[in-house]
Amino acid sequence: MADVVAEFTCVVCAESADVKMSAECNWCDGRYHLNQRNDVDGKDCGQVWIDEQYLALQFACNNCLAADDAPIPPSDVSKPKRIGVEPGRPRRYKRRA
Ligand SMILES: [Zn+2]
Ligand SMILES: [Zn+2]
Repeated sequence: MADVVAEFTCVVCAESADVKMSAECNWCDGRYHLNQRNDVDGKDCGQVWIDEQYLALQFACNNCLAADDAPIPPSDVSKPKRIGVEPGRPRRYKRRA
């Protein structure tokens, strides 16, 4: 029981989603497939983008993106969205002036 792999069910396609290959939607709190790596083939059932106003990552599944009342990502979502972050383990960037 202790070695159960954390797996979720994608809210978009209802298939199982590994925690590392998925993200949590900011709007419905559901897990959806999100391949956050460049070197691995993965499934995307949603998007992630950076909110320029709050400089925060915004995660949204395709269900919410398709909803009329859902916030729409900025128009530049067609840009590469591989940003190299892992859910639950935000990287810390040290900036020196
Ligand atoms: Zn999915
Ligand atoms: Zn959602």
